[in-house]
Amino acid sequence: MRNETLISTEQRCEVGLYAKRPVAIVRGAGARAWDAEGRMYIDCMSGQGSANLGHCHPAVVAALHDQANTLISCTEVLANDRRAAYLEALVTALPFPARLFFCSSGAESIEAMLKFARLLTGRTRIVAAKRGFHGRTMGALSATWEPKYREPFAPLVPDFAHVPYDDLDALAEAVDERTAGVLLEPVQGEGGVRPAGPGYLEGARRICDEHGALLLLDEVQTGFGRTGKLFAIEHSGVTPDMLALAKSIAGGFPMGAVALHERHGSLSPGAHGTTFGGNPLAMAAALATLNVMRNDDLPGQANEKGAWLLERLRGIASPNIREVRGLGLLIGIELKQRVQSYLAALVDRGVLALPSGPTVLRLLPPLVIGYDDLETVVTQIADVLS
Ligand SMILES: *Cc1c(COP(=O)(O)O)cnc(C)c1O
Repeated sequence: MRNETLISTEQRCEVGLYAKRPVAIVRGAGARAWDAEGRMYIDCMSGQGSANLGHCHPAVVAALHDQANTLISCTEVLANDRRAAYLEALVTALPFPARLFFCSSGAESIEAMLKFARLLTGRTRIVAAKRGFHGRTMGALSATWEPKYREPFAPLVPDFAHVPYDDLDALAEAVDERTAGVLLEPVQGEGGVRPAGPGYLEGARRICDEHGALLLLDEVQTGFGRTGKLFAIEHSGVTPDMLALAKSIAGGFPMGAVALHERHGSLSPGAHGTTFGGNPLAMAAALATLNVMRNDDLPGQANEKGAWLLERLRGIASPNIREVRGLGLLIGIELKQRVQSYLAALVDRGVLALPSGPTVLRLLPPLVIGYDDLETVVTQIADVLS
C-alpha cells in the first residue's frame, strides 16, 4: 500500500480538520515508526505526546493483550480488579494525597476539573494564561488562549480570564474572592514550550490561598516523566488542588484522569461521570505504564537525555535559531522564521517533529529513545536549519 493512497482515503472520508503530512504510519517500535512503504522515521511526535513509553512497549502490549482476553468493558458503578490496582498505584505515585477521577482524554480531564472547581467553591471565575492550551471542548476551549481556536465558537463558557504567563503581578491582580480556580500548565506545551520560571507556581499557590481559589494544574503534556520527573510539579514541590493528566498516562491508550487533593474529600454520586471512565483496558495499560516508568526510571532518563539534547541543540550554529529551551525531553527550538517548511524537510530526512505555535519546532521523543537516534535528530535538524 502506498502512503498516498491512505492519505487520499483519509482526506476524502474525514471532515478535514487535520492538515495531513505526506506520511502514513503503519507500525512502531520504541522511538521508531515505519510508513506504508517501509521507510523508517525517528518519531519525535510521539502521538502528540502520548507515547512517552515508545511505540508498542512490550509491557503495555502484554497488559492489553491479557486484559482484552479477560474483560474489556466495566462501568464505574461496578468495581474491577484492574481499576482498584491502578487506583492504588497512581495514588501512591502522586506527590500529594489525592482521590482520582478517570476519563478518556485530556480535554475531558480539564472539563472535570472545571466542574469540580465550581462544585467545591460555589464560584465560576477561572483565570488561565495567555498562550495556554487546555483542549478543544467548550469548557477546555474557554480556558485555551489561542484566538483562532476560540473565536469561531463564541460565545464560550462565561467568566474566563487570561493573564500573561509567568507574571505573578498580573495573576495577583486577576484573582479575587470570585475566582474558583487558576488553571496553568507547569510548562506551556502547545504555546511555544515555555517552562514556568522559578517561583511562579509557588507564587500562584500563594495567590490562590489568599483568595480561597483552587490551583488547577494541567499536566496532560508534562506528566508521566516527560520533564525529567514523574510529574512536573515535583520540580517546584508545589501542591495543586487538582491535577489533570492524560496523553502518556496509559502507554498510548486513550485515557485521562483528574487527581483531586484529599483535603477536598469526596464528591457526591452523580455529580459527574463518563461511560468509558476506568475502562479495564485503559487501567491495565496505565498500570503497566506506571510500572515501566518506575522500574526503568524513565523520568531520570528524560532528565539525562533532555540535558544532552538541549546542549547539543544549543551548539547548532544557525542564524535561524532564536532560542532553544525546554525541560527534560520537552524541547522547543524557537526559529526566526515559520516552522512549517522545516518540519516538512525533516520528514524527508526521516525525522517526525511537531510545531508549537508558528515559529517553534517542538521535540517530544519517546523517553526510551536511544542516543544514536538522538544524534541523528540533532544532525538532521542542524542540516535543515543551516
Ligand atoms: C493535549 C493537551 C490537552 C488536550 O488533550 P486532548 O486529549 O487532546 O483532549 C490539554 N492540555 C494540555 C496541556 C495538552 O497538551
